[in-house]
Amino acid sequence: MISANIQKITERIAEAARRSGRKPEEIKLVAVSKHFPVEAIIEAYAAGQKLFGENYIQEVQAKKDLVPPGVVFHFIGHLQSNKAKIAAGTCSMIETVDSFKLGKALNTLLEALNRSIDVLIQVNIGEDAGKAGIKEEETEGLLVQLKELPRIRVRGLMTMPPFVADPELSRPHFRNLRKLSEKLVLKKLFADSVQPELSMGMSDDFHVAIEEGATIIRVGTAIFGHR
Ligand SMILES: *Cc1c(COP(=O)(O)O)cnc(C)c1O
Repeated sequence: MISANIQKITERIAEAARRSGRKPEEIKLVAVSKHFPVEAIIEAYAAGQKLFGENYIQEVQAKKDLVPPGVVFHFIGHLQSNKAKIAAGTCSMIETVDSFKLGKALNTLLEALNRSIDVLIQVNIGEDAGKAGIKEEETEGLLVQLKELPRIRVRGLMTMPPFVADPELSRPHFRNLRKLSEKLVLKKLFADSVQPELSMGMSDDFHVAIEEGATIIRVGTAIFGHR
């Protein structure tokens, strides 16, 4: 079932890309495995899925030694500075950096590990009181600060818009994140200023997010079922 779901999503990614004149290869699928056991990750991996998303540090820590070595994790949950060390040691990307304090903590840890890491800035694009992320108008200032940290490579932006029943209602938020990233590209504030990553879109609205420029989509329920 997991394998059939991945197949179906891969087809829908390709369709959404074609509708918007994009190449399907531009879009990376993060399979969100939070609250699902290692067996689910192993099954998805056997179906060709390598990239997984986890929200809880304890969960990544528990899973990382039990999954095939080719599995790559993105951290997509709220990260406290005191848990930054585990995240930096287990994940290839942290999608949810939203403060200079966290950036600094990561940079210090990475100095000690003699490593660097890719991150995204989580933007609270819909100004949803219940969602994490920095305010849209504060994003540029944070990027300027993070540019001074040599171990942190800011690759792009991530968002989780307010929950709505109709995916079309998320479209303006996705569009606003893309516009924000275009503005920041012109100011050369990303580590790779040519094509920054835009992580947006989940099970119900990833097709809309792709039409609006998503390069990373984070899909849980549509792959693994209900949590
Ligand atoms: C859980 C989660 C997802 C996946 O949501 P689904 O609706 O299950 O696809 C994506 N992004 C984040 C940040 C999440 O916490």
